[in-house]
Amino acid sequence: MVRKGFVYLVGAGPGKADLITVRGAEVLKKADCIIYDKLANPALLKFARTDAEIIHVPKRIGGASVTQQEINQLLVEKATSGKIVVRLKGGDPCIFGRVAEELTILSEAGIDFEIVPGITAGIAVSAYTSIMLTDRDYSSQVVFVTGREAEGKRQSNIDWPLLAKFPGTIVFYMGMSNLDSIAQKLIKNGMPEDTPTAVVTEVAFPTQRIVKATLARINETCEQNKIGPPAIIVIGTAADSDTRLDWFMKQPLFGKNIVVTRDAAGNADFAEKIIARGGNPVQFASIKIKPLTGSNKFLRTLAKFTDYDWIIFTSGNGVAIFFEALVSLGKDARVFGSAKIAAIGSRTAEKLSRFGIKADFVPSVFTSEEFGKQLLNFINLRDKKVLLLRSQIASNELVELLEKGGAVVNDVAIYTAVAQKNESDWLVEKIGKGEIDWLTFASPSSVNGFFEQIDVEIVQSGNVKIASIGPVTSEQLVSLGVNVDVTADEHTLYGLLTAIEKTFKR
Ligand code: SAH
Repeated sequence: MVRKGFVYLVGAGPGKADLITVRGAEVLKKADCIIYDKLANPALLKFARTDAEIIHVPKRIGGASVTQQEINQLLVEKATSGKIVVRLKGGDPCIFGRVAEELTILSEAGIDFEIVPGITAGIAVSAYTSIMLTDRDYSSQVVFVTGREAEGKRQSNIDWPLLAKFPGTIVFYMGMSNLDSIAQKLIKNGMPEDTPTAVVTEVAFPTQRIVKATLARINETCEQNKIGPPAIIVIGTAADSDTRLDWFMKQPLFGKNIVVTRDAAGNADFAEKIIARGGNPVQFASIKIKPLTGSNKFLRTLAKFTDYDWIIFTSGNGVAIFFEALVSLGKDARVFGSAKIAAIGSRTAEKLSRFGIKADFVPSVFTSEEFGKQLLNFINLRDKKVLLLRSQIASNELVELLEKGGAVVNDVAIYTAVAQKNESDWLVEKIGKGEIDWLTFASPSSVNGFFEQIDVEIVQSGNVKIASIGPVTSEQLVSLGVNVDVTADEHTLYGLLTAIEKTFKR
């Protein structure tokens, strides 16, 4: 008999991927199959198992798209075949989410389910703008209304005369295509033309925008500003909010389109940091990280690991690749024996700690040169055997320094970065249209990988600014004729973003 499946209906929350609940993230991690719609942030798929089946069901009005019946069918089919299915919906699944239809079908098919709530877009509006849906002075009640009633319904369920007199805040979902008619119906039923109204699009995304006007003028104002769905419409005194409280849109990086040019995994990690500061990451992987742990040199080194006094990791990538290799060789952290371990940067140390290793020496420096000096100050390395596990394209400076200090150094490349070819026309077009604010580079290899695909002139002719993580990367940019706008003082991704932020505060 086939194991019985189970369906989780999960609210993804709006915008930012980390607005999902802990429970939601937990069930995503164990899903065999994830069915998600267009309002759920695709970044949430980072929780998915690598072997999970991912089904995207865009549901559009008109046009060729998946119908609700097809989605219902899909849910039943996957669950009946014994799968753990997550149906991921934007916001809260039970707010204008046609949940009852999906659940009825499941219950008729004898399939068990659980609903995991999410933050609905209407509620998130208050958190991410200055518009407070409730207020002890002017709004003791809130109503959520659909701006688009079920197709084919003869009579409206919306009581327009009642809404027109509603003494509180009215929140419309799905109202953008009917905005003019919504405003007219309210006015015709007695709501004052000058009632404050706000439209907030893409709530909690770095692309969030707010337009405010009177009820009579809101449609025209949205058209002028090219504001479209998905949006929440707020009507009532609440909409006339104090913009000084707009913390989200005031973040220095808010709305800035920042291109990240590391490898795909590095870009995903960097993107999260950009989103956390309100920016909009644009991912363009310029390099691919290629492990070199299959080399004879590495394997020979690993066989004699216990010979070393010190083993040095210089990046998080290096740590991850080293441990992947260990696992595939059927070994574990015991290979280190009594060797001391050093790491450049707290990120590298943190990566080591995930594998149960506490580094013995982690100076807060970001260049190999500084690191070498500090290590020599920390300990006498005369005649000590030191192993460097790092990138093939690292400079020789560290080796020379340590050798000068008397160490016997073995420099073993465990990975390299190779240029990654991409479809690049879209980025060139965005740069041309002025839709890119910053290009960021976190290593000389991403500089090379990027400019192998995109001409320096294209970048120089646009309004794009260039940010670099440190002097070595900046030198590489300059050597290609690229004008560097900022170089981070602290040579980390954190420092890179801080350096960009500073340009807005001047
Ligand atoms: N279940 C969803 C709502 C689905 S109905 C929720 O709880 O949020 C679809 C409507 O939700 C859209 O037309 C829009 O009005 C609103 N919506 C969903 N996500 C949004 C977002 N991030 N920004 C603005 N509106 C959003």
